[in-house]
Amino acid sequence: MKPTAPPPLSRLPSPLAEELPVVQAHLRTLDGALDWAEAQAIAQPWVQAVRDEPAPFWAMESLLREYPISSAEGLALMRLAEALLRVPDAQTAIALTADQLGRADFEAATEGDGPHPMLASLSASAIGLSKRFLPQGEQPPGLFKRLGAHTVVAATVRAIQLLGRQFVLGQSIAEALGEARGRRKAEPALRYSFDMLGEGARTERDALRYLAAYRDAIAAIGAAANRGAGPEANDGISIKLSALFPRYEEHQRERVFAELLPRLLTLIDAAAAADLNLTVDAEESERLELSLDLIDACAAHIAARHSSWRGFGLAIQAYQTRAVACVHEVARIARLHNRPHGLRLMVRLVKGAYWDGEIKRAQELGLADYPVFTHKHHTDIAYLACAQALLDHAEVIYPQFATHNAGTIAAIAAMAERQPAKFELQRLHGMGEAVYREVMKSRPLPLRIYAPVGEHRDLLAYLVRRLLENGANSSFVHQLADPRIDVAQLLASPLHAAGKPGQPAPRAMFGAERRNSAGVDLSVPAERAPLLAAIEARRATGVPAVREASAIDATMQRLHAGHLAWNARPVAERAAVLERAADRLEAALATYCGLLVAEAHKTLGDGVAEVREAVDFCRYYAQQAREQLAPRELPGPTGERNTLHLHGRGVFVCISPWNFPLAIFAGQVVAALVAGNAVAAKPAEQTPAVAQAFVELLFDAGVPRSALALLHGPGETVGAQLVAHPLAAGVCFTGSTQVAKLIQRALAAKDGPIVPLIAETGGLNAMLVDSSALPEQVSDAVVQSAFRSAGQRCSALRLLCVHQGIADGVVEMVAGALHELRLGDPAELATDVGPVIDAEAHAALSRHVERLEREARRLARRELPDGIERLANGRFIAPCAYEIGRVADLKQEVFGPVLHVVRWGPGTAAPELDALVAQINALGYGLTLGIQTRIDSRAERIAQLARVGNVYVNRNMIGAVVGVQPFGGEGLSGTGPKAGGPLYLPRFCGERTLTVNTAAAGGNAQLLAGDEAVAVGAGMH
Ligand SMILES: Cc1cc2nc3c(=O)[nH]c(=O)nc-3n(C[C@H](O)[C@H](O)[C@H](O)COP(=O)(O)OP(=O)(O)OC[C@H]3O[C@@H](n4cnc5c(N)ncnc54)[C@H](O)[C@@H]3O)c2cc1C
Repeated sequence: MKPTAPPPLSRLPSPLAEELPVVQAHLRTLDGALDWAEAQAIAQPWVQAVRDEPAPFWAMESLLREYPISSAEGLALMRLAEALLRVPDAQTAIALTADQLGRADFEAATEGDGPHPMLASLSASAIGLSKRFLPQGEQPPGLFKRLGAHTVVAATVRAIQLLGRQFVLGQSIAEALGEARGRRKAEPALRYSFDMLGEGARTERDALRYLAAYRDAIAAIGAAANRGAGPEANDGISIKLSALFPRYEEHQRERVFAELLPRLLTLIDAAAAADLNLTVDAEESERLELSLDLIDACAAHIAARHSSWRGFGLAIQAYQTRAVACVHEVARIARLHNRPHGLRLMVRLVKGAYWDGEIKRAQELGLADYPVFTHKHHTDIAYLACAQALLDHAEVIYPQFATHNAGTIAAIAAMAERQPAKFELQRLHGMGEAVYREVMKSRPLPLRIYAPVGEHRDLLAYLVRRLLENGANSSFVHQLADPRIDVAQLLASPLHAAGKPGQPAPRAMFGAERRNSAGVDLSVPAERAPLLAAIEARRATGVPAVREASAIDATMQRLHAGHLAWNARPVAERAAVLERAADRLEAALATYCGLLVAEAHKTLGDGVAEVREAVDFCRYYAQQAREQLAPRELPGPTGERNTLHLHGRGVFVCISPWNFPLAIFAGQVVAALVAGNAVAAKPAEQTPAVAQAFVELLFDAGVPRSALALLHGPGETVGAQLVAHPLAAGVCFTGSTQVAKLIQRALAAKDGPIVPLIAETGGLNAMLVDSSALPEQVSDAVVQSAFRSAGQRCSALRLLCVHQGIADGVVEMVAGALHELRLGDPAELATDVGPVIDAEAHAALSRHVERLEREARRLARRELPDGIERLANGRFIAPCAYEIGRVADLKQEVFGPVLHVVRWGPGTAAPELDALVAQINALGYGLTLGIQTRIDSRAERIAQLARVGNVYVNRNMIGAVVGVQPFGGEGLSGTGPKAGGPLYLPRFCGERTLTVNTAAAGGNAQLLAGDEAVAVGAGMH
């Protein structure tokens, strides 16, 4: 059977719901179903007992008490645990240990006989020792070396392995099963759900490796299971769909059903044959619909093939605002596939592990709301409302309540007493041990432990990130460990709605002064529908033609005259025009996306991001103009008034490129306008229609026609004439370094006033990766930075510099991820890489790739899919990566999806990081730089050494946000000031000071009256 993808589910409400009404509805559901006082009375003795008799050494609670994650020591320990075990070389391991331990004070934290003598002594002998002798900087001094850096690091590694043992049940499934067997001797009712957890797959190879690990684990668990006892009574397995397929995304729905689903079904067949519980873990909220559609397909398969199996399940996250709707949907699926025996699903209810990530994504995308609650107690309320719904659906659902919160457990116990149904409780291995010890004493309920299995090196990075995410002050486990929080406070009722949101709405994240631009969640069908419709509509009408500019001199004369009236308008009025333009552009987002896709071959995601950037430019420069361009009174001697006035210079010539035909065009034009200039705007020849549409929008918003003119045509003729025109009072240019030089020379050769040039040009942008970096994160950042927008961004990654100790693995992962990219029509949601802009670019890039084929080592090259030559005249360049010998071998900017890779480290052309940075600086460009390291001091040092405009640490290096990452480089990369930054507007202005002797017509009355301080300033000139 080859499954086909169903259209996306629309039975769930939008993920972007307003929080308060949802919470109020949940509270109404719980009214009568739950008496919190009862829950409190049940939980109170548990909590008191845990406090009186703390958890065993190294349990999460104990660790948190010793080293709260919010403390420098706790954070250092966790961050070492995240990274240290994967570092292959001693030098980096020492630097990482020094960096982290240097920030913490373990000796103080473990002074005396702490409650955990083993930890205290370990800290004293290893961590404490290293703290005492490790140096401040990165290079350990002689003293440290003599005392044995290697010994200190080895001891720290041992400490981390010990820590790993607390969170990982076994390094193999056999070891984990053995461990579980051992623990069952003391607690025979304990059940486990094993998890081969790690990072999600980035490559097909990784996915197949995870699939095999899951399959082997199911076989082993099945072999050890008690036949006939059923899934409730046996150990089971938890799986992550993101581990089974590298592109588990809504955008790749077709492939998910064609490739991921069959893999999932083989695991289902195996688990059903062994009669085990197989649970699909819940991941990020944007995958919810997709996951439910997969569950639906699985349920149909189970109904057809495994009619008596009752072990299939999934996790549901209560922190999602539509969690309760999700419970009902799952029950509907179960009923839909009901059959003689009745399909029953096992549903694990969790609160959710990706809260920070969800909040961040919504803010970055400028969504209308968050998909998750913003108050902890709202999540608690939703958890209980979901619990009630699960109990209500008991005939088709077996609830599995996963929580470490004593209040939540007690509330569930109380609810279940009123409504008897079978259910179980779940906790994570290494967490909640003491609470459950007490729970089991008073109510022996079925309990299952979610137990990670695998090598510490592979698991800790993921586990620790989750722990850090959940180790917040608001978490129950954290508060239980904090003796300052009394029991009543710990068990206070969550059953009340907060009046205000816990986070500013994503669009209010910049405060009252400036609204964040509205974005679109493309993973939500209803949100993307208008965009798809606009793209279709544009396809039907085609891109409007434009006429080449004539009468350039007359236009310049007209603008020169027009500038005076525009400049005379108060700054606030000009700013208001920009804000009106922003609102109109935001409202027309879909239309502009249609145009960007049709004319500039932007993918949907890139189109949305570009419109948002243009909106942000308008709002940001409006705000900056209000703050910076109003007349400023300056201090001076009494009897005199000194005022600084900023004004437009005249006619600014703005010349912009095709790669951001809306955002860069808009940014230049509105900055020049709001500063009081008239603007002669020349867009790129390849993308005139987008510019035309935006200029019309500006006119509609109130820019006078006498202050703005659009002049289409080639740079060599129209652009050159504008620059050379005597009335050009300034030039703002974004494009190649060569053309910027031509403009600079043309301006220098002109008679008349000396005018400013603001140039933003290209870059040979590098990413430095050391051996503490996490390969999966590196791979994500590289693929996005090098290949998104077909590499046609000035910020794009051109040169990846990887430490040789991890280079093979990183290159293999990047190559695997590159092969997963989808090339095609940018109008399709699934497309990652569209065509390059024109035939000329295609020819130049093809020549460069041919040269690399001869002169460099090919690491990866995505083959072009069949039939692609019929699209965009076949102007596709296959994303590719080549290893070159040295940094200096990269001589020019290659504006396409072509990545160059060099290795650094001992024995290479760049043995040390400092040498590597010097080589990159020597290229002469200075636009963007990526750094991937877990060594904070190293990242800071590189950022100081690098002569680069925008440095990004542990993330991708594209997509600078207006007002957040002001963008622009130095050296051959541009003149500055940075676009979207606070210093941009003044460069478009002239300055005048006005000094008035207020004492001229008589004495200074105020001074004589004695009520003004006498300010005496030294004259400047
Ligand atoms: C057996 C088991 C399996 C699990 N499987 C999954 C899974 O498949 N997918 C998954 O995502 N997680 C999973 N988890 C992790 C789970 O989400 C966290 O352990 C859980 O959120 C911690 O909740 P608690 O009830 O123990 O603690 P509590 O301290 O009561 O709750 C903490 C939780 O509250 C939420 N929260 C914190 N701050 C806020 C805020 N300001 N606004 C709104 N909500 C907030 C977060 O979800 C946070 O994790 C699993 C946990 C267990 C025990």
